[in-house]
Amino acid sequence: MWKSSYVASTSVTRTQTDAEKLTILDANKLANGTGIDADICIVGAGAAGITLARSLEPSGAKICLLESGGLSIEEEVQALYDVDNTGYPIRENFMSRVRYFGGSCNLWAGRSMRMSPIDFKVRDWVPNSGWPIDYAEIDPWYERAERLLRLPPEKEFVDVGRLPGIGDQEKALLSATDAESAIATWASKPMRFGKVFKRELKRSKNIEVYLNANVTEVVPAENGAAVTRLVVKTMDKRQMVVRARLFVLATGGLENARLLLASTERASSGIGNDFDQLGRYYLDHPRSIYGRVRVNESVRLPYLTGIPLTTGKVQFGIAASEEYQRENGLLNCYASLEPELSEFAQTQYGRSINIVKVLSGRGHVGSRFRLSDVDMTDMRDLVYYLTPKEIMPHFLYKPYALLKQAVRKRRAIQGLSVINYCEQVPDPESRVTLGKERDALGMPKLQLHWRLGDEVRQSVARMHETVARLVKEHGIGELHTDEEELADVRFSDASHHIGTTRMSDTPRNGVVDSDCRVHGVDNLYVCGSSVFPTGGYANPTLTIVALTLRLGELLGKELSNG
Ligand SMILES: Cc1cc2nc3c(=O)[nH]c(=O)nc-3n(C[C@H](O)[C@H](O)[C@H](O)COP(=O)(O)OP(=O)(O)OC[C@H]3O[C@@H](n4cnc5c(N)ncnc54)[C@H](O)[C@@H]3O)c2cc1C
Repeated sequence: MWKSSYVASTSVTRTQTDAEKLTILDANKLANGTGIDADICIVGAGAAGITLARSLEPSGAKICLLESGGLSIEEEVQALYDVDNTGYPIRENFMSRVRYFGGSCNLWAGRSMRMSPIDFKVRDWVPNSGWPIDYAEIDPWYERAERLLRLPPEKEFVDVGRLPGIGDQEKALLSATDAESAIATWASKPMRFGKVFKRELKRSKNIEVYLNANVTEVVPAENGAAVTRLVVKTMDKRQMVVRARLFVLATGGLENARLLLASTERASSGIGNDFDQLGRYYLDHPRSIYGRVRVNESVRLPYLTGIPLTTGKVQFGIAASEEYQRENGLLNCYASLEPELSEFAQTQYGRSINIVKVLSGRGHVGSRFRLSDVDMTDMRDLVYYLTPKEIMPHFLYKPYALLKQAVRKRRAIQGLSVINYCEQVPDPESRVTLGKERDALGMPKLQLHWRLGDEVRQSVARMHETVARLVKEHGIGELHTDEEELADVRFSDASHHIGTTRMSDTPRNGVVDSDCRVHGVDNLYVCGSSVFPTGGYANPTLTIVALTLRLGELLGKELSNG
């Protein structure tokens, strides 16, 4: 046995056989002071943690996967995620992250995009840009990640000229030298990692999953060069210790930094923080709904408005080409076209999608959620809340899309709203720190100070100039936009927590190296969007999974080298 004193319930021991080893364990049933030994310990069973454990399984190494929550949401565990926000407004706790088995992908919308090659490059007009790896390094992992997420492969949509059924005008626009397609895909169902892989993990002979196991501290050896153990607590304050050869933090973009900051036994500023980089350069994907395209009669835009496929869905956005970004000093951003929204729907859009998800039982509601706070008086807007690509079941999406097309054909002029997605400049003052307040386990709460940066609005304004010119030049219609109005438009976050343990060549400008290993700590790795030095405009999960598969290969070799 790996653990020294597991107090198993009789039902667990009775059904356990060699052929089907039940390995989802409950830390609440461990005795205080239990020690657990493994070859590798992964903290967090979200997209990253589950992917890593599965990719390491064939190595035969003893894998311990620790998860803070249980198999469903519990309010007191979710409350461990409360943050004190002092910066630009972000979504409430229950819409921002999910703290149980499967992580935030229990709630995600499944919108998947690859990052662009330019996102990895040093750009002299984007301070603190550049990854220590380039796009070619991650490219092969994207294909595997797409398979894992059951997505339509992106490569099928890259050659605009060969796309079946593409509209003439959209083909011309997306082939223009200034423009690029921003390709978003969805699987027919968003991957719910916890639900889909629970059985497989249960049966694994060498992966042990511990639920209700909160890691509260990472403890390095005296010289700080390696981690010796993790401190684990249950909600009723029992304490356990996990020892392993290798440790990986996969607790999400905010929590990875929190754990390292709070691990102060050897250094008062935390682990991996010799040069005050930990928690800095926090990024999200600011999104705004601003601008309207009046589309000319008989113009068809199937790819720009989204089409159903047998394997899922695809929608293109209009992005500025790499060359155009260089010439004009633009951040990487794109415009997505959606059915025209009323002004009220525009302001409520992001929040409303989540409220519908939460109400339909796909997210965490909790007693803090009050329906009475939500203005849902306008039935027309309620229709928009049910944003088809995001929450409509796949089998209904196809008839819906056909109906939508038929209605559009009958209208002389149609209107489309512009949803603007933009990357941010990595800013050291946009950051997380530890606050004075403590959570129920005694860990300092996070203070989040998200800064938007003027460059976001400037880039969206420049992008609108390009989109306006392109839609006109290619006979699509006219973009209505106004730079002065744009100055007051509110951006919302996208629950994409990026950059707090950024990847860098040296510890002077980041926290982990190009292998995701914490600088100066031999056996400690970080996995997830906290390692991205820049965020591009792409939703992060596909890149998280790709980077995790890459890390899995590296750690598999390390484990087999003994
Ligand atoms: C409403 C919403 C919509 C989204 N839509 C999209 C989308 O369309 N496309 C996209 O790409 N992304 C989307 N995301 C983001 C996406 O969900 C995340 O990028 C992804 O889930 C991150 O995976 P992860 O494994 O790195 O972290 P998480 O999913 O956060 O998993 C971390 C795990 O660690 C556990 N944990 C945390 N702290 C501890 C601890 N101290 N000890 C032990 N365990 C711990 C947590 O319980 C959790 O299970 C969305 C997110 C939200 C909230």
